[in-house]
Amino acid sequence: MEDDVSVRVAVRIRPQIPREIIDMCQICTSVTPDEQQVRLGSDKYFTYDYVFDIGEPQEIVYNTCVESLINSALEGYNATVLAYGQTGSGKTYTMGSGFDVDITPEQVGIIPRAIEHLFNGIHEIINNAQMNGVPPPEFKISTQFMELYNEELIDLYNPIYNKNYSYKIQEDQYGSIQVKGVTTRTVVSVEDTLQCLRLGALSRTTASTQMNTQSSRSHAIFTIHIKQQKLITDQDDSSGFETLTAKFHFVDLAGSERLKRTGATGDRAKEGISINCGLLALGNVISALGDKSKKASHVPYRDSKLTRLLQDSLGGNSKTVMIACVSPSDRDFMETLNTLKYANRAR
Ligand code: ADP
Ligand code: MG
Repeated sequence: MEDDVSVRVAVRIRPQIPREIIDMCQICTSVTPDEQQVRLGSDKYFTYDYVFDIGEPQEIVYNTCVESLINSALEGYNATVLAYGQTGSGKTYTMGSGFDVDITPEQVGIIPRAIEHLFNGIHEIINNAQMNGVPPPEFKISTQFMELYNEELIDLYNPIYNKNYSYKIQEDQYGSIQVKGVTTRTVVSVEDTLQCLRLGALSRTTASTQMNTQSSRSHAIFTIHIKQQKLITDQDDSSGFETLTAKFHFVDLAGSERLKRTGATGDRAKEGISINCGLLALGNVISALGDKSKKASHVPYRDSKLTRLLQDSLGGNSKTVMIACVSPSDRDFMETLNTLKYANRAR
C-alpha cells in the first residue's frame, strides 16, 4: 500500500441485530479472506483498503485504521476519522460515542481508545525527554464537540439553539480552519476527555428532542486539538520555542439512507436535501483527493459546511480514514449497495 495516500477507506459489516434474526433475514454479504474484498449478493464485488467482516472486534478495527493516526497527530499532522452508513449500520458503535451503560472493555469504540492512546503517547514523550535529560515538551489538549444539522452548526458544549445566531467557519492566513465562538474545553486526562465526550453526546440527544429533530439526520463532530511546545536549543546555544499543533476530528456522519420519495415535504424535505449536500460534498472532496490527475486542481471544499469545517484535515498532509458501515441483512441490500458504491468512489 502506498504511504503517500492521504485517504483510506474501510468497510465494516456489523453482525445481525436480534430483530433481524427474529425476522429471519438472510445474510447477503461475504468477505474474501486476505483480499479486503466484499461480495454483495452473488456477483457484486468491491475492494477497499480494509474490510472488517461480521464479528471483527473493536480492537482490530482501531489498531488497523486509527492507531497510526494518533501517532501522526503527536507528530503534528491533522487527522480525520469518518463513520459513514445508513442509520442502524453501526456508525456510533464503531466510533464509541454511544455510551451504552453495560458496555464491556472489548466493546469500547474508536474515540475512547484514541483518547487513551493519545494520553499514553504524551506520557511516553515526556518520559523519554526526561530520561534523555532534555526539557519535556509542554502539552495543551482541548476538545470541541459540534453538530451539523441542516447546514447549521450547534455547539454541543453549549447547545442553546438560537435562530438568529450562526457560527462562522473561518480560514486563517495559514489555511487553518476555526469556528468562531464555539466552546473549547481544555482536558488533562483520559477521564476528563471522556467526560466531555459524554456530556456532548448527552446534549446531542437533549438538543435533538428539544428541536424536534432526529440525531440520525445530523453530523456529530468531536475534535481534539493537540498543542505541544518544545524548548529548542541550537548548537550555538540560542534557544526558542517550537510549537507543534494538530487536530483530530472524529465524525459520526448523518445516516446515508435515501430520502424516501413519498411523504418528504416541507421541513423534512429540506433536511434531506441539506444532509445529502454534506454527504455529497464529502464524497466529491474525497474522490477529488484520491484522483491523482485532479489533485493539483479543484477540491470542492466550499460546497458544504461539513467539508469546509474539515478542510484543513482532509487531504494535504493530513490523514483520513473513512469507515463505511453496512448491515449484512438482505432487507438492507439496496442501502448496502449504495454505501459500498459511495465508499468505492471515495477510494
Ligand atoms: P448507527 O449509529 O449507524 O445508527 P448503531 O451504532 O447505533 O448504528 O448500531 C445499531 C445497532 O447495532 C446497535 O444496537 C449496536 O449496538 C449494534 N452494532 C453495530 N455494530 C456492531 C458491531 N460491530 N458488533 C456488535 N453490535 C453492533
Ligand atoms: Mg448513530
